[in-house]
Amino acid sequence: MTERALILVVEDELALVTMLRYNLEKAGFRVAAAHDGQEALTLIAEAKPDLVLLDWMLPNTSGLEVCRQIRRRPETRDVPVVMLTARAEESDRIRGLETGADDYITKPFSPTELVARVRAVLRRTRPVAADDRLERAGVVMDLARHRVMRDGRAIPLGPTEFRLLRHFMQHPGRVFSRDQLLDAVWGRDTYVEERTVDVHIRRLRKALNGEGEVDVIRTVRSAGYAFALEANAAA
Ligand code: CA
Repeated sequence: MTERALILVVEDELALVTMLRYNLEKAGFRVAAAHDGQEALTLIAEAKPDLVLLDWMLPNTSGLEVCRQIRRRPETRDVPVVMLTARAEESDRIRGLETGADDYITKPFSPTELVARVRAVLRRTRPVAADDRLERAGVVMDLARHRVMRDGRAIPLGPTEFRLLRHFMQHPGRVFSRDQLLDAVWGRDTYVEERTVDVHIRRLRKALNGEGEVDVIRTVRSAGYAFALEANAAA
């Protein structure tokens, strides 16, 4: 990264903001801070951070709701979000990811782990080379503009779903196991569980497949997932 990445920390506990700022700056990041959801949404639109570190427990609007709103607004939709939470429950974790978070860190965490996770998410969400275009089975990916269309309809995708789809479309018809997808899309050094892949596949399908449309992602039982070579091959 030529310019130092800007991380927006959204947390109401000032001591934790100080700790996060210290460790992130020490790791070479620039840091901005917001103390509630509204301030966060304003700052994301204005300052365009490279990543948002979002606490679940915030006054007024919960981190979960803030994440939902980030994903809903076109101008903030693509920003990577890492949720911070004291909730270790698996169902909460899945809920966080389903809301659109790219990763999830449970408190208490070590500064080293935090920095490693932030770096991993930044690495996999970095924009690719300009004017690349992928087109298969009615799905068009404009990699430079980060846009996806299916049969002329714009498909809004979060950063992880975008990279998943790109990976599938670069290898049409090829079946990838969850483990292979984790390596290719999340990166080898992340702490993501295989079940996370299913969550993002579900989100990708939901976004891609309109009412009555053929599912272009194929589930291959006990093997993994593939992008169908032709739309009708998935039927
Ligand atoms: Ca908090």
